Amino acid sequence: MAECDNDQDELRDLLAQALEYARYYRELGVNGLEQAEKRLVPVMGRVEQTEMPRKSGKSATGDGTSPTTDGRDIAPPPSLPLLPRKVESDAVPAAPAVLETLEEVRRDLGDCRRCKLWSTRTNIVFGEGDPQTQLMFIGEGPGADEDLSGRPFVGRAGQLLTRMIEAIGLTREQVYIANVVKSRPPDNRTPERDEVAACIPFLFRQIAVIRPKVIVTLGNPATQAILETTAGITRLRGNFQDYPRIPGIRVMPTFHPAYLLRSPDKKREAWEDLKMVRDLLNQLSS
Ligand code: SF4
Repeated sequence: MAECDNDQDELRDLLAQALEYARYYRELGVNGLEQAEKRLVPVMGRVEQTEMPRKSGKSATGDGTSPTTDGRDIAPPPSLPLLPRKVESDAVPAAPAVLETLEEVRRDLGDCRRCKLWSTRTNIVFGEGDPQTQLMFIGEGPGADEDLSGRPFVGRAGQLLTRMIEAIGLTREQVYIANVVKSRPPDNRTPERDEVAACIPFLFRQIAVIRPKVIVTLGNPATQAILETTAGITRLRGNFQDYPRIPGIRVMPTFHPAYLLRSPDKKREAWEDLKMVRDLLNQLSS
């Protein structure tokens, strides 16, 4: 009987996990998952009905929450293989030794007034995350929510970015998130050339300290600044590029989450880009 209970538990957990994945990726814009969801829900119901009284209080999703019907407020997929921390690989040539820390870069930035953006900002948004991560996300600049909180990507676009990160099996805490400029451009305009020129040396130093395996640039301004190119995101996205300043770091340009909120039909392409990032990181770590 105990064996039967275990099989039942395992089946139910597997179904709950499959349902979670289907909902999660559908929310990201991956097509063709509605049918899978429709078929999984009644099967889940039948399993629940035939289930023996449980020994624990675990819920249907196995993590203390119940599946919703609209796909919102669900926990991220829990069990994609998480990336080990930095693993030295022959494929990544050693970069010159970095003799500073993120704290030192931040200290050097200080109460920065190196460009005109200082006069309208509330807080400098330096960046946050794991300083030893393999994966960085870089946007163009802070918006209103970020300016108020001093943290990158916390508004609606940030919430979508968080879900995108979770969809490849990671958490925000496991990556590093920063912007090309660290003070908010008024009315969320694109940072101007002199502002980028004044601020980006600090981002280059952050990248040199963290030395990730992959950088995902979000949108046109970030992609052009990091790749030091005038080519546009539409042409560059979907293909790995080389980070010009440190050999071995790959750059994946993709759409900015704010753009994806305005153009949800582009989520599919962003998801394809992120899958390539996930696969490369897994490959480099194996
Ligand atoms: S955007 Fe960068 S360079 Fe300009 S004031 Fe802010 S921190 Fe300084």
